[in-house]
Amino acid sequence: MAPDALERVSDRVYRVKDRYVNLYVIDAERIVLADTGTRTAEPKIRAGLRELGKEVSDVGLVLLTHHHGDHMGTAGVWAREARAQVAVHEADREVVAGRERRSATGVGAAAKVVVTFLGVFARLRPAEPVEPGRTLAGDETLDLLGLRLRTVHAPGHTLGSCAFHLLPDDVLFAGDAVNARDGRPGPPRFVEDPDAAVRSYERLLAIPRKALCPGHGEPIRGP
Ligand SMILES: [Zn+2]
Ligand SMILES: [Zn+2]
Repeated sequence: MAPDALERVSDRVYRVKDRYVNLYVIDAERIVLADTGTRTAEPKIRAGLRELGKEVSDVGLVLLTHHHGDHMGTAGVWAREARAQVAVHEADREVVAGRERRSATGVGAAAKVVVTFLGVFARLRPAEPVEPGRTLAGDETLDLLGLRLRTVHAPGHTLGSCAFHLLPDDVLFAGDAVNARDGRPGPPRFVEDPDAAVRSYERLLAIPRKALCPGHGEPIRGP
C-alpha cells in the first residue's frame, strides 16, 4: 500500500511533503490548501484528499504564502478544477499572475550558488501563473469556510511573503519566512529584502502558537 499522503499536525491540519517542500491541507467546511507544492505535487494532493474522503471539487480556497514556484506549483489546478479562490498578499500578486518576474539573492556564498541553480530551473519549468481572486493586505482577520485566521505580512524572503495563523488550531503557517532545519528555526537564506527578512523572522517567532509549519523542513511544535 502506498504510504499515507497526509501527516497530521493538528485537529484539522495535515502536512503533505512534496519532495523538498511542504504544503498543508486544512479540513474545514471546504478544503483549504496552505501552499500547493511544486507542479509534481498534484497526485499526492489528490491522494490526500481521498484519504480525507474528499474530492477535488471540495477544495474551496488556496492560501499562498508567496510567489515561488515550489509553493504555487499546483494552484492553477485547484482554481481550474474546483474553482477554488486563490489568495496571496498584494505585493506578490503580479508575480503569481505571471505579469512580473522577480529574483532573490542568497545570504552567504553557498546560497548564491543555489539561487543561480533555482533560477535556471525556474526558467526551464516555471510555475503556471494563476490569477488571484483575493488579495491580502496583511494583519487582517479572515473568517473563511468556518475558519478564523489571521494574516501576517512577513516581507523579506519575497516582498509579499505572508504567514497565516489559524486561530482555532493555533497553527502558524510561515511559508519560507522561517527556514526550519533540524527542528530549529532560522531566518530565510534567499531573500528579496535582507533587512526585512530578519525583522519578519523575529516577528513571526514572537507569535505564541502550538505549532509552526514551515515551507521546508519539519513542523516545529510548541510555543
Ligand atoms: Zn520561497
Ligand atoms: Zn520554498
